Amino acid sequence: MLTDVHCHLTAPELLQCLSEVIKSSIESGLRFLVTSGLGYEDCLRALEISDYKFIYPSLGIAPYDLEGYEEVFSLIERERDRIVAVGEVGLDFWRGGRGEWDLQRKVFEEFIELAKSLDIPIVVHSRSAGKYAIEMLLKHQVNRVIMHAFDGRASYALKAAERGFMFSVPPSIARSPQKQRLVKVLSLDNMLLESDAPVLAPILNEVNYPKNVKVSAEWISRLKEVSFEKVVERTYHNAVELFEIRV
Ligand SMILES: [Zn+2]
Repeated sequence: MLTDVHCHLTAPELLQCLSEVIKSSIESGLRFLVTSGLGYEDCLRALEISDYKFIYPSLGIAPYDLEGYEEVFSLIERERDRIVAVGEVGLDFWRGGRGEWDLQRKVFEEFIELAKSLDIPIVVHSRSAGKYAIEMLLKHQVNRVIMHAFDGRASYALKAAERGFMFSVPPSIARSPQKQRLVKVLSLDNMLLESDAPVLAPILNEVNYPKNVKVSAEWISRLKEVSFEKVVERTYHNAVELFEIRV
């Protein structure tokens, strides 16, 4: 019953061997995954490869590459009934400078309002900007939120979790004391499994695959001192409920 709520099957590393990636995911016990489009063309590909049995699409754009975001915006409005989430969208203060960050904020706010008006979850990228992203989301009073691969402080995460925000845990938890701390303070009720494949592998610089959500689940099990099965079951139900996936 493993789930991967955030990956990029349309990234070249995975797309070129897509049938093998899907096969190995199913063999590893994955029930379904959500692939995130990044930018207009990639979003179209995400829609194209989605089968609504195993692969579900989420449409967004990288905050550090916002060219053509208006097209992504209208695509989301048009395809509302074919997608399970808006995202990933968000803030990335790790790259760029102040001028770009202002644009990032403006666009992020538009996507937050869009997700809110469509009543659909929003998957949030918040690299080096966790605090700002959470403040903005709270201000706009959205509650169907997934903070993906959150790299901010545990205290901010807790504040957001109180409002029902979900946190998806990537396999890079194996090499990230910050993510291990985060899992320790959060409740299983607020957790999901993600791979973010092809990036965030358990081993730095290796290509990541959806099947590695197993590594996330193993770490959560160890840190929370609950069985692996319970982690898998709980995160599965959290995902089904949040995305309203019919199983
Ligand atoms: Zn991603």
